[in-house]
Amino acid sequence: MILLGSTGSIGVNTLIIASQHNISIEALVAGDNIALLNEQIAVYKPKFIGLKDNTKKHLVNHNNIFCGEDEILDMLSQCKSEMVVNALVGYSGLRPTIVSIELGKKVALANKESLVTAGAFLDTSKITPIDSEHFGLWYLLNHRPFDKLFITASGGAFRDWDIDKIKDASFSDALNHPTWSMGDKITIDSATMTNKLFELLEAKWIFNTNNIDAVIEKKSIIHALAQFNDGSTTAHFAGVDMKLPIAFALLGEVDQSILPPVDLLNIGSVEFLPIEADRYPIWQIKEDILSNSHLGVVINAANEEAIIAFKHNKCSFFGMSDIVLNAYKHFEDVQPKNTNDILKIDSEVRAFVNSEAKR
Ligand code: NDP
Repeated sequence: MILLGSTGSIGVNTLIIASQHNISIEALVAGDNIALLNEQIAVYKPKFIGLKDNTKKHLVNHNNIFCGEDEILDMLSQCKSEMVVNALVGYSGLRPTIVSIELGKKVALANKESLVTAGAFLDTSKITPIDSEHFGLWYLLNHRPFDKLFITASGGAFRDWDIDKIKDASFSDALNHPTWSMGDKITIDSATMTNKLFELLEAKWIFNTNNIDAVIEKKSIIHALAQFNDGSTTAHFAGVDMKLPIAFALLGEVDQSILPPVDLLNIGSVEFLPIEADRYPIWQIKEDILSNSHLGVVINAANEEAIIAFKHNKCSFFGMSDIVLNAYKHFEDVQPKNTNDILKIDSEVRAFVNSEAKR
């Protein structure tokens, strides 16, 4: 298989599952963590390597390296593997998803931003999501008709903070996730609840429904619930570990142990709480974005620029939501008709956010 984002949190877990199931690695793609990439090259002996850019190419122990997005896309067309695992973070994952599908490959997709920005234009029959909530929904539904779907949220780093205190929270405070260990960007998105908004959009495209909502479940032991017409609701319990969704995405069927079973008596009580917009201002647009999902590209671009601003102390924690909501309003009339429009709108939103910041 081809693994994009091999040095990240999902990438590392993917290689563990690949090793356990003798899946060979044709190509690895990474960004800046060359030390880890070189270790992976020594173990997995890929034929091709992709790198974010050429600044560290000379440090990589390989003689077949493709640098930058355009070369990585070219590399994809030279690869024979039918399976691409896209574990890149953010918008950088979109074009590799589009091209992999065009090449007729199957995409095991951790990069939810691909669906958030361009879900309307992607053939989801070629996509298996690597996300615990969507895996949980798939597991529960088993192709049965449903009434409504629910996914759960941990609540992120500030779920128990006084709201007044959150106003002064720092980037490193926001990285302190209560239950999951993940890359920086998704951890910040969890603190703002943007990650859950993205997951609702992801679920919309994967399960073809707007009838989906999210609730907080602080223990992250229940990942998804399915409500059926007869009044039954079923819940998916599993450990806090991405290896389970990864294993299913890579293997299709799994009949051996991937994680230890959930210890019910050890869990104690489980409660569900509403997601409130005073703590998570992005939640104001939850209903609207599900009906206007073509605006996912706007939220995503504004959110990525807002995270950069927060990281560099150019805005506060709540300032990130202000940036995203402002861009959402400004671009409410855009109507992308194809993926080229998505790429154009993404640039326009980023330019707008940065020009607003200078005012
Ligand atoms: P990480 O930040 O840990 O990893 C991102 C990976 O992408 C790294 O290998 C990084 O390289 C590489 N990368 C980043 N930018 C580029 C680029 N421009 N070109 C090439 N490589 C690049 O992120 P996560 O693994 O946490 O998340 C990946 C995706 O999976 C995200 O979309 C996230 O939302 C999703 N996801 C993650 C979950 C998790 O548990 N972590 C759960 C569900 C979904 P390097 O590190 O070498 O710079």
